[in-house]
Amino acid sequence: MKTVVGRFAPTPSGKMHLGNVLCCLVAWLSARSQGGKVLLRVEDLDPERSGADYERQIEEDLRWLGLDWDEGGLEAAEGRYCQSGRSGVYEQYFDILSEKGLIYPCFCSRAELHAADAPHLSDGRYFYPGTCRNLTPEEAAEKAKKRKPAWRVKVPDETVRFTDLHYGPYAENLAAECGDFVIRRADGVFAYQLATAVDDGLMGVTEVVRGRDLIGSTARQLWLQRTLGLPSPVYGHIPLLTDWDGRRLSKRDGDLDLARLREKWRPEEIIGMLAEAAGILPAYRPVSAWELVPLFSWGKVKKGDVRLPEGFGQ
Ligand code: GLU
Repeated sequence: MKTVVGRFAPTPSGKMHLGNVLCCLVAWLSARSQGGKVLLRVEDLDPERSGADYERQIEEDLRWLGLDWDEGGLEAAEGRYCQSGRSGVYEQYFDILSEKGLIYPCFCSRAELHAADAPHLSDGRYFYPGTCRNLTPEEAAEKAKKRKPAWRVKVPDETVRFTDLHYGPYAENLAAECGDFVIRRADGVFAYQLATAVDDGLMGVTEVVRGRDLIGSTARQLWLQRTLGLPSPVYGHIPLLTDWDGRRLSKRDGDLDLARLREKWRPEEIIGMLAEAAGILPAYRPVSAWELVPLFSWGKVKKGDVRLPEGFGQ
């Protein structure tokens, strides 16, 4: 049987947060409980938002938590696992899409895209109505004198289906529910959708576990992989973490970043608390990540939001 390859894919734009820890824990448990491997990919595409210091801290935090990986990370193979060093790879795949006639420049400003009358989707994304899809080469050249374009990919009127490991069957018609999406920003940085779809395909990732807030990206990534002739992993999304009042956690909740929590709690306490909150353990007890491996199954993981116990992090 094929070895399962899971992954951690942190964006080093800040300190590690309990929500990231939950995601890494479930990704790790799912892979390890199937005898699989884990790779660590640094999603530092955006040079303005990413820092090597944050990445070093994330790696140190993962080690402290007992969540190990087999491949990748900051120091591995001359940055082969850092998205910031892989733009040549993304360029090749961008060119493949371009040769297929699937890419076009988009000159819409942020303000135009976010205008009050722009159609929004239920998850807060906006629907791109194809404003620049049919510009003539002359119109595009004229617009290019004033503004550098972003690059969008033309999506088909076709329903992409997949079965989420946790939430079951899911279907999205890209033309009706998403619209043509950006794969390269005007400043030249490749978009998350392209980089992640390409990397998961090329790095042999067989299982992606991530927060439910990213479930809406999955159809785009699957379609990109198929269009680019890359293999696709299976996807499992996990519920979001909220505080004890049911409020969604955000990076602003400084008390719940791992640097603070490490001052007060042992790794086994943090892992035990998250495992109980997520449904993996029936009752709280301090536990190491490895002790949870034989206890893990997707059936135990809650479907609704995961609430932290009162007082945690205070
Ligand atoms: N890099 C993303 C994050 O840190 C995760 C992307 C993914 O799992 O596909 O939120």
